[in-house]
Amino acid sequence: MNKSSATLHSASRPASAVQRGPLLDIDLSAIRANYSSMRVRYGGRDLSAVLKSDSYGLGLEPIARSLGAAGCTTFWVNDLEEAARLRSVVPDPTVYALFGLGLHDPEDFVETGVIPVLASLDELVQCSRAAARSSRRMRVAVQLDTGLGRLGLNRADVALLSEQGELLAPFELSCWVSHLAAFDLPDDPMNRLQRQMLLDWTSLLPKAPISLASSSGIFMGSDWHFDIARIGSALFGVQTSTRWQEGLQPCYRLTAPVLRVATFPAGSRVGYRGASELERTSRIATLALGYSNGLPRDFAKQARVYLNDVPAPFVGGISMNLSMVDVTDVSDPDVVPGRVVEVLGPRQTVDAVASELDCAPNLLLTQIGSGCRRRYLDGAPDDGAAR
Ligand SMILES: *Cc1c(COP(=O)(O)O)cnc(C)c1O
Repeated sequence: MNKSSATLHSASRPASAVQRGPLLDIDLSAIRANYSSMRVRYGGRDLSAVLKSDSYGLGLEPIARSLGAAGCTTFWVNDLEEAARLRSVVPDPTVYALFGLGLHDPEDFVETGVIPVLASLDELVQCSRAAARSSRRMRVAVQLDTGLGRLGLNRADVALLSEQGELLAPFELSCWVSHLAAFDLPDDPMNRLQRQMLLDWTSLLPKAPISLASSSGIFMGSDWHFDIARIGSALFGVQTSTRWQEGLQPCYRLTAPVLRVATFPAGSRVGYRGASELERTSRIATLALGYSNGLPRDFAKQARVYLNDVPAPFVGGISMNLSMVDVTDVSDPDVVPGRVVEVLGPRQTVDAVASELDCAPNLLLTQIGSGCRRRYLDGAPDDGAAR
């Protein structure tokens, strides 16, 4: 698109350039910049990318391809299906499946070379049998449940495994994996306990690289880095800690077009069941954006949209496909149908909104990512809308 062209609603624009619904721009160069910034911070050996759940709802293939081209070689995804998608765009990656066997046969992992992060002693025994039967060496990682209680071997399993070393003999053991339950609270004593437990347990087990840190662990200091780190949120510029994580830029920008602008007299009510009463004569813009696009319904309570740098609050709540914002105070003359407003981006980040709504930032990110049309950019957005 031509940078010097007029505003988005200009009649001279080609029809394809008109944005008719919500659009999530994902800047691949920002993701690579975040990866580089984390690389500088990380003191361990392998800074790997967690692209689970369709890259946090932002799209697995384009992000994997971009990170792969930037030199990232190790990836963590949910399961074999995501691993196959990853391998279709990254040549010869090391891929871990976070679901462990995830109800697949061990043979499927032997065949594909995808590394299951074994989630229980039972999975380990199943794989041990399969690996003993196979002529190929099976690579596995083993999850140790040091406190999250979600997946992994517990203390008793570790004791048994340390006595029955032959269970691990048929494998190439890639790493021991554990995950912090209070990763977002760097000073929580639970983290230290988990770290110590991981050190105690792995001292009883065969030597292999250790992987503990997710994004926040890298910011907690070198004690937490170990050999392999698994970062997701930081790649996308999402803050995951009560302590500010420096050097990350949001890779996303959600915009939505205005469909209609109307003026209402003071005292009017708008929205279902008259959700909002307008205290003054108000100009209300209706946006093509709703909860079907992944916005939580509470979004309207705290969040704003931005027209250039001017915020406009929601009124009348958020419905399935539409929402309204009060643009009375926006002097900008072109608040007209076709004008695009910024909903999320550098002015209003996913983590800031999530903290106001008291939800996980990645809840918002995955919902919006899967609810909106996505467009991948490499570098700055190419149209002047809403900036
Ligand atoms: C999601 C996840 C990560 C990545 O966490 P971020 O906070 O997004 O960096 C790492 N490890 C495990 C086991 C995960 O489930």
